[in-house]
Amino acid sequence: MKSTGNWYDILSEDGDMIQARMGGKIRLDELKTTNPVAVGDQVELTMETNHDYIIRQIMPRTNYVVRQSPRKKHNLHLIASNVDHALLIVTVIEPNLKMGFIDRFLLMTEPYNIPVTIVFNKSDLYKAKENKIFERVHDIYTKIGYAVVKTSTMTREGLDTIKDILTDKKVLISGQSGVGKSSLINAIVPGYEIRVGDISDHSGKGQHTTTFAEMHQWQSNSFIIDTPGIKTLSFNNLEVMDVAHNFREFFVMSPDCKFNDCTHRNEPNCAVKKAVETGEIDELRYNNYLQIIDDIESQNYWELHSDY
Ligand code: GDP
Ligand code: ZN
Repeated sequence: MKSTGNWYDILSEDGDMIQARMGGKIRLDELKTTNPVAVGDQVELTMETNHDYIIRQIMPRTNYVVRQSPRKKHNLHLIASNVDHALLIVTVIEPNLKMGFIDRFLLMTEPYNIPVTIVFNKSDLYKAKENKIFERVHDIYTKIGYAVVKTSTMTREGLDTIKDILTDKKVLISGQSGVGKSSLINAIVPGYEIRVGDISDHSGKGQHTTTFAEMHQWQSNSFIIDTPGIKTLSFNNLEVMDVAHNFREFFVMSPDCKFNDCTHRNEPNCAVKKAVETGEIDELRYNNYLQIIDDIESQNYWELHSDY
């Protein structure tokens, strides 16, 4: 459910909260992460002679989400495991929408095809201009298979849909601060205390601060995973081809590219670029893609050439 330094809060099968430490000889799989176990993991415990509980084994994961570690750039930070659904909360205004953030978020959920709903909160504030933006973004993402809903904690628009999503699942909730995450959850689960805002941001870079997610049980079979610290998402753990593979509508086109390692930039006979020209692939997605791979390449460049 939660980790605090060396201790982990574990919800037992009987519904008790147990504190446990990590066993010394635990076998980790190939995944190199700064944290060996994350919220959502299922573990097996043993009790030592001093009555301390020890995590002896991590059960196989159905999926997980990782990000670049805020502390060690080339390591991965495991955010959560065994996630049934992800809610990305955004809004068109207050604060203004950052399309790039949506695409970066989707890079985390896409490797295991975790179902994502993009939630446009504060719909009560949308006028013609904002609704136009909403419609545009709605069309882009629903066309490629993501769910998009409009919500308001004021008018309660869309809240039933969110409640359905939250019920009987482990749901990861994310979004930039101020979009209304805590208000939204509270409108459905009264008294729920999400860690408001981004406690990771005091140092500017998310260092020396908590970035661990926490899981909360709000019904017997319903869990909310809240994720502080996913404010800016950078991905130098990803290669350009990883990004290309995880833009799902690009991936389905890519067999028609002339080169099978096509990065969809300047290569001749690129099916993705053609699809952008015909409008089949949205150019906003394409521009975000270019921006992301550009960031990855320039980060890598500066690291490789840092002695110049
Ligand atoms: P968080 O940082 O994402 O947890 O955001 P909060 O839940 O703290 O909300 C940030 C601000 O937006 C607060 O002033 C809320 O009252 C306001 N807010 C949240 N949801 C809505 C909404 O649906 N409509 C409007 N107009 N304001 C909202
Ligand atoms: Zn291509």
